[in-house]
This record gives sequence, C-alpha cells and structure tokens, in this order.
Amino acid sequence: MLISSFATIGQPADQQGPMHPRLSKAPMKRISDEELLERQFRYDDPEGLTGLCRERPDGSLEPEIVGYYRLRPSGGRAANPAATYIWCCHCQKPTHWDGRVLKDNSAKTYIIGADCGRKHYGDKFVAIDRAFDEQLARQKLLARWSQIELLRDQMLAEVDTVLKDPVWRTIDLKRQELHAAKPDFVFRLSPLIKRGGSLIIREQLRDVAEEERRQRSYERAKARYKSLSKSEQAQMRRDGLAPERDDSPIYRTHEENLGPVRGRHVVIDDGDVRSCAIRLRDLLVQIAPIDKLGNIRNTQLSRTLADIREASERLRGAFEENAGAWRFFEPANLDAVDRWYGSIRHTPFARKLPTGREVHRPIAKAITPLISETHYYPPALDLLLESDPTDR
Ligand SMILES: [Zn+2]
Repeated sequence: MLISSFATIGQPADQQGPMHPRLSKAPMKRISDEELLERQFRYDDPEGLTGLCRERPDGSLEPEIVGYYRLRPSGGRAANPAATYIWCCHCQKPTHWDGRVLKDNSAKTYIIGADCGRKHYGDKFVAIDRAFDEQLARQKLLARWSQIELLRDQMLAEVDTVLKDPVWRTIDLKRQELHAAKPDFVFRLSPLIKRGGSLIIREQLRDVAEEERRQRSYERAKARYKSLSKSEQAQMRRDGLAPERDDSPIYRTHEENLGPVRGRHVVIDDGDVRSCAIRLRDLLVQIAPIDKLGNIRNTQLSRTLADIREASERLRGAFEENAGAWRFFEPANLDAVDRWYGSIRHTPFARKLPTGREVHRPIAKAITPLISETHYYPPALDLLLESDPTDR
C-alpha cells in the first residue's frame, strides 16, 4: 500500500500534474499522514522565529507555506486599542494579526499578512494557500481519526457487553407481551408515538348553554308571531317563516391534552439500544490505522467521522430513552393511555371488531409492569463523544 501518499493539495496524485502546472512546480513537500499528524503549523510567536528574515522577499521566487499565526485578540481592535500588530515582510512594518510563515527557494523564512501574501506573490500564493488550508483541514481530521482509533478496540469490546445486557432483552419481551395482549391498542398508539405526538382526548359534549340560547330565541320569535294578525300569521306560514321549535341536542368538541406517552419503547422498537450499538460497531471496524489511509480524500474521512459521531449520539440517546421504558407502567401514564384508547376506539373510524363492542381491559390488568433495572453503560461512548480536537 502506498503510504506517503498525501499530496500537496490533498488530492489524489492523478488529479495533479497537467491539470495544475503551477502547483506541480510548487516546492511543497509531500508528507505522509503520520507526519502530517505530528506537524506543528501554528506559531504563537512568529516574530521570535529563529532565522526570520526581515528583508522584503523576492516575489518572483516560489514560496512555500510552512505555518500560520492567528493572534487577533478577542474583540479585535475596538476591545484592544493598545495591542500591537505582527510585523509583515510585505508591508515592512507591523500591520496584521493573522498571517502565514513562508520559506522560499532561497531557504529564507518570512512572515507575511494573510492578504499580503497574495499581493506579494500573486495567483501562485492563492493556490498554495488553498493547498495549505486543505492540509490543515486534513490534519484536524487525522487528529480526530487517531483519537477514535485509540478508543476503537475498547469501544468494540464494550459494544459486545451492551449487546449481552439482559435489560434490553427484558424490554423486548415486554414489548412482545404488550403486542400479543393488546394488538389494536399498539396498532393505534404506535403512529402517535412515532411522530412524537401527545395523547389528546376529543369528546363531544352537550352544549346546554347553546341549546338554552336557541330556546330563548325561539320564544322571542314565537311572542312576535303571536302578536301578528291571523292573516299575517297565515302569510308567514306560507312563506315558511313561522317559528318552529327545535329540541335536537347541540354538541361541542372538548379537547384534553394528556401529554406524550412515557416509556415509548415498550410500545415501539425504533432506535433501540442494540441496533444503535450494532450500527456504531459496523462503523468503527472501518477505522483503519492512519498509515493505511492512503489516498482517502478529506471529504471521505470527514463523512466517516460524521457518521461515527451521529451513531454515537444516537446510541447515547437510545440509552436514555430505553432506560426509561419502565415509565410506561407508571400509574399516571397507564391512566392516560387507557383513557385515550377508550376515547378513540369507538369513533366512526374505529376498526370494527368481529365481536362488536370490545370491552377495554386496562393495560395494567393485561400485562405485568416492567421493573426499573440498572443497565450497563459503555464508558468509551462518552470518550468518543468528547469534543473534537481544537485547531492546532
Ligand atoms: Zn502586510
């Protein structure tokens, strides 16, 4: 396998050369990923560099970027009126806080402001600056990669322990028990849980106040009708305008929100701990040693790292959620789901049961509760999720 493969601009070798004649002439060294990982590119005291040349460099020579400095104090000039700038070989005076450390064909070392590099060397600087940024980006990715590589074997061993933990099996069994005992209940509750909705009870209540208002209105119309002459009354009857009593009930919809279902994993099994652990394991086995990365591009490294982060976060979330599965059996939650189910199963949309009206047996009577149990939590998971290494 090709090891020292990291090319100057972080692209496979076959994309360089004729396509980028200027870059191929640039004297940037090809360095391996292992070397790149160890390199220190950031300078905190650029003016104190040994061998720093204070002359204005020859702009016709090929510069090589060997480092950078980023010394802008927080709050900038406004917050730091007395802060001094860093000297710049192009400006020949302290002008900027951020810049690059350069070497050129004459092997002299210079420091130059971020924008002055382009002013001094033209387009060739833009190209090497972009390549340098790619190199810094790769270094950051490699640092994260090697951090994960160090944790990989521990994490894989811990995933094995997670997969063997009987707690998750107990939740599975309880879920199967509920599905067997209450298929219709599970069928109706699952979509609501999946979309993270709340248990809402909608009831049709008699609107007595509205019925009384209608009655009073009828009585007023009747009194007016009676005050008319016989012929006027006859005309109103012919026109269909004579007051008529209406005793039909008036309903209004009353909504009660009982909140979300607790311990949802007793009902549905999406995002369960074991499948999340398996997903993370499958990604971790792809973490090859740094010296075996070969021509894998930054974008690919970055995608793999993002997948690992996402899988780790999902696993941590699954622990939190699944460990709370027993909460489904808390009396207040059982009461809420029973009431909700009782309110929806006889609506016109309810599935007709062969026996006609089904008597809803409370969940608590249909299955025994799940008891809260401690579970194994892999310590390496939190290490994996620690923040990415800071820019060096
Ligand atoms: Zn400058």
